[in-house]
Amino acid sequence: MSEIKFYDTLQAKVREFRPLDPRGKEVTLYTCGPTVYNYAHIGNFRTFVFEDLLRRFLEFRGFSVRHVMNVTDVDDKTIAGAAREKKTLRDYTAFYTQAFLEDMKTLRMLSPGIQPLATESIPDILTLVRKLLEQEYAYVADDGSVYYRVARFEKYGQLSKKKLDGNIAGARVDVDEYEKEEGADFVLWKAAKEGEPSWDSPWGKGRPGWHIECSAMCMRHLGETVDIHAGGEDLVFPHHENEIAQSEAATGKPFVNYWLHAKHLLVNGEKMSKSKGNFFTLRDLLAKGYDPMAIRYALLSVHYRHSLNFTLDGLKEAGEVIKKLDDCYWQCLSRLCVLNLPEKMGNEAAYDGAIGPELERSLEDDLNMAGFVAHMLEHITHLNKVLPSMGRLDLRGCVKFFKGLDGLLGLDIAAVDSIPEDIKTALGQYSEARKAKDFSRSDTLRKGIEGGGWLVKDGRPGEPSTVKKIRRTWDVKK
Ligand SMILES: [Zn+2]
Repeated sequence: MSEIKFYDTLQAKVREFRPLDPRGKEVTLYTCGPTVYNYAHIGNFRTFVFEDLLRRFLEFRGFSVRHVMNVTDVDDKTIAGAAREKKTLRDYTAFYTQAFLEDMKTLRMLSPGIQPLATESIPDILTLVRKLLEQEYAYVADDGSVYYRVARFEKYGQLSKKKLDGNIAGARVDVDEYEKEEGADFVLWKAAKEGEPSWDSPWGKGRPGWHIECSAMCMRHLGETVDIHAGGEDLVFPHHENEIAQSEAATGKPFVNYWLHAKHLLVNGEKMSKSKGNFFTLRDLLAKGYDPMAIRYALLSVHYRHSLNFTLDGLKEAGEVIKKLDDCYWQCLSRLCVLNLPEKMGNEAAYDGAIGPELERSLEDDLNMAGFVAHMLEHITHLNKVLPSMGRLDLRGCVKFFKGLDGLLGLDIAAVDSIPEDIKTALGQYSEARKAKDFSRSDTLRKGIEGGGWLVKDGRPGEPSTVKKIRRTWDVKK
């Protein structure tokens, strides 16, 4: 087996992946989760789906992945949102957390083993702030807020390649997101403001800053050094830069071995924005009737380090790929379940259905999906060609291939792997009626099969008709 390589933002190069675990079995993975102040948009999901692919590939390679994805349920935006809707912070964020979990399921993302809430991690956050104060990496301001002293952390800027600007050292930023003021001291603990949710601390009532949440949750659940930390490129600065500063100052150890960042998503070549009308949540697209797996494929099929230009035409093309995979799979399964074929048709070795080295090598190469997709489509074309000459052994190999593909890409092609007896019987009768040119009977039988939740696909002359379970938006007749 050859090596897995990832592009590491910190070292700014492609590096061979080696986990910390001396047995080489476990991989720790921290991915920055959603801030639950709204429904997540497809730009968010581009990153989340890339992280899902990363995890699936590591698991495919036999690693057991300990995956933590946090939920930011207290920050400027969630507090503002709760106040606007006159809800408690808990009620407001619980609603969008639930929506996010549903969206994850819709897109068939694997559930992270551990999904901690920031508001439930306050003791860990306070411990970390205390440590930073003890080591003078932090100081308490007059109002009771605690700031990180950026000038004291020599390596500040190493991830984002930003130079600390001496002029603004000592300047303070107390909002959760900022862009320009590199070198500015950032807030670790914000003194409570009138009417805002707050927690007790040695420095008075307050609440955590956004950056400290991730450091605390990551180290709490995965230890002081984690194998992989991933997120969108917009998180490199300041969020991840600050996570490194907080964590490494506190422990004196490297915080993360591999930093992976997904590039941004554009819609029709432009930055997504509500004012331009090109802003889509996952739910917006579902409401327009797009299929979840077409959306997943559209987000997945572009290499994560390339920016993704999302268009509705692209989404239709993604749907065509899903159809192609579905069709090939159902051809295989129908032949296997319905036809009375011999185990083997010839003398050659049976098709083993393995994912195969070409496909695997693409993913080893920094999750190169463009390469993977090209090989996958080539393989489907080949399978379609050889299908009519396949015996049962080969067809079982085919089913295995699609199951393996599902494991890697999560596209839900082969979840249904049997055909009920009544559908098989009806399909047999349907084929006989067609052979006898009794079209009124074949029509009735077809309608019966469709009523049972299956579609009939007529074969080319001399080829058998096959069935397919109705599962996609386009399978449903309007
Ligand atoms: Zn984070």
